[in-house]
Amino acid sequence: MMKKKYDLAVIGGGAAGMIAAGHAGELGSRVVLLEKNRNLGVKLAITGKGRCNITNAEEDLKNLINIYGKNGKFLYSALNKFSNKDVVDFFENLGLKTKLERGGRILPASDNAKDVVSSLKKYLNEGNVEVRLNSPVEKIITHTKNNNDKKIDKIILKNGEEIIADSFLFTTGGKSYPRTGSTGDAYKWLEKIGHTVVEPKPALSPIIVKEKIVEELEGLSLKNVEISIWDNHKLYSSFGEALFTNKGLSGPIVLDLSRKICKIKTKDLKIKIDYKPALDYPTLDKRILRDFEELRNRQFKNSLDKLLPRKLIPVIINLSGIDENKKVNEITKIERKKLIKLLKEFEMSFKGLVGFEKAIVTSGGVDLKEVDPKTMKSKIINNLYFAGEILDIDGPTGGYNLQVAWSTGYLAAEI
Ligand SMILES: Cc1cc2nc3c(=O)[nH]c(=O)nc-3n(C[C@H](O)[C@H](O)[C@H](O)COP(=O)(O)OP(=O)(O)OC[C@H]3O[C@@H](n4cnc5c(N)ncnc54)[C@H](O)[C@@H]3O)c2cc1C
Repeated sequence: MMKKKYDLAVIGGGAAGMIAAGHAGELGSRVVLLEKNRNLGVKLAITGKGRCNITNAEEDLKNLINIYGKNGKFLYSALNKFSNKDVVDFFENLGLKTKLERGGRILPASDNAKDVVSSLKKYLNEGNVEVRLNSPVEKIITHTKNNNDKKIDKIILKNGEEIIADSFLFTTGGKSYPRTGSTGDAYKWLEKIGHTVVEPKPALSPIIVKEKIVEELEGLSLKNVEISIWDNHKLYSSFGEALFTNKGLSGPIVLDLSRKICKIKTKDLKIKIDYKPALDYPTLDKRILRDFEELRNRQFKNSLDKLLPRKLIPVIINLSGIDENKKVNEITKIERKKLIKLLKEFEMSFKGLVGFEKAIVTSGGVDLKEVDPKTMKSKIINNLYFAGEILDIDGPTGGYNLQVAWSTGYLAAEI
């Protein structure tokens, strides 16, 4: 029996794979989408804490590109072809209402990431894409005609079945959150067939600190704080929301800082939290003096309710070294200074990043020098394309990583 031949085989049914396969199908190609999980879009379904931050509303293309750092310019053609605005129109046309939230975050109006997955399934169906679940790809078979015409002939599934296609698109994602299926399978195939893989590292990961004190603060969420990273100098800082975990810190600004930390060589770093970034030292001192004046006969331990979240108070009292039973009107200027320093520079020592297990995104991946940004085609293998997180490009939180998947997936499908 003749083996079925496809125009395109897409490996990996995540965000990039689904949009790419659907678009190729829409353009009339015979497409097979191979996914190792029992379901499509397992990671997509848990994005944005189950709400899926589909993209970001940033209107200026230059700003958008800059957000991705030095590799951002690789996205120029992809974003031109299928911009963040196109993403919104695309989903709205599939019947998915969207909404805009703070920081330009665009989400499904239903607050349900599963609705995004369902829309993409509908798109795949409309494009007559053959979806094959429980189909892990295990091997890539290439051959070289003349010296420089290297091609993939076929891929082999775990059950031994061969898939033959004219072109192959790898959308297997990165290595983060491996329980969703993204286990970095393609990196080893790619290195074997001559591609360079920039060392994958967990990015957008919670941070672990050395101090055990965080155990007491686990679950405390912080709003409007500034967190900064230091060696001898201040390296980076970010303002917004964070969260204490039992080992350290997480939350939007911590995840964004972790993306920078993973690129710093020295790991002898300090993390400082400014709980009152809107008040400089003298203003905070005045504010505390005013509170102490109002509560003059109270004990120190009962005087910080207006200033700090409840869970933080015993920790600050303990670290301040001020006797908790002391009346506030007996607190000295030096003691107050120490308290203010704690509130403005709550210092912890960096121990590490939580790692791939809980990282939102992988930095590193297929070296962009070996991929044509206008087509997403490999410069090494003539019928190979890439899209999504497998590429060496990543962004901060705010919908930017899914935008990479949508734009590169859509472009790659236009083979
Ligand atoms: C908890 C969490 C929350 C997130 N929230 C957001 C958010 O709100 N907004 C945002 O922009 N980004 C978010 N991200 C990042 C975003 O989800 C990813 O960047 C995006 O899913 C990458 O899409 P992808 O298609 O390239 O890869 P993936 O979504 O990882 O898909 C890859 C697929 O390939 C399959 N696969 C792998 N190997 C094989 C193989 N050998 N054979 C067959 N199939 C294979 C996998 O099973 C998987 O389904 C979040 C990530 C996480 C982990």
